[in-house]
Amino acid sequence: VPACPAWALSQKEGQVVWNSGLCTDCGTCISMCPHSASPKTRLLSVGAVLNVIRPYLPFIRGITVSGGECGLQAPFMTALVRRAREGHQLGTLIDTNGSTDYSQLPELVDMAEGFMLDVKAWNAEEHEGLTGASNRMVLRNLDFLARIGKLYEVRTVVVPGQFDAEQTVREVSRMLLSAASGARYKIIGFRPQGVRPQFQNLPRPELSYLERLAGLARSMGLRDVVVV
Ligand code: SF4
Repeated sequence: VPACPAWALSQKEGQVVWNSGLCTDCGTCISMCPHSASPKTRLLSVGAVLNVIRPYLPFIRGITVSGGECGLQAPFMTALVRRAREGHQLGTLIDTNGSTDYSQLPELVDMAEGFMLDVKAWNAEEHEGLTGASNRMVLRNLDFLARIGKLYEVRTVVVPGQFDAEQTVREVSRMLLSAASGARYKIIGFRPQGVRPQFQNLPRPELSYLERLAGLARSMGLRDVVVV
């Protein structure tokens, strides 16, 4: 693939193959892809993932699995979470965009230590405008995971003018409180670094605005609210 300056990408049987040994992590491939998709993927077994983790075992008490949406790989995830827990006494946090119906994955939910969930916008139309997808499943997961005590953290990235952040913070807080959840609510100020080109010119929120949103959540009764 000539776009890669290090010749770390090639094509085999119609698929792009990534050579991690040649890759210099320059990022050219991702910036050239119209979908900002990364070709830097490898197929790993559960055992191979645990072998990568093994040298760090003396220093960690758990792992976090992220994505994309890692719930799309539910059988693999379930096996990984089980072996991390039973074989190495490691807890697993699952970082999700909420698009997977976790109420249908009881074994994974049971084995995981907790979930970190993005709630991008409470309002359905605003969420669809931001992401191109409905937030119905996100809010169902918020309610489900909060009520069964598996919600570790909720995150909302605040981008001024893109959605009603006050409504989102208020309604997420209300749902957490009604579920008696002790989950942390992380209110994150948008930063343009590392985002797709079409989002790079979006405005950053003032710290005082983020603090005001956090104050709203705290005034409703949430105890663990952080601004990042
Ligand atoms: S980051 Fe992408 S373009 Fe850069 S060397 Fe690695 S594979 Fe090639």
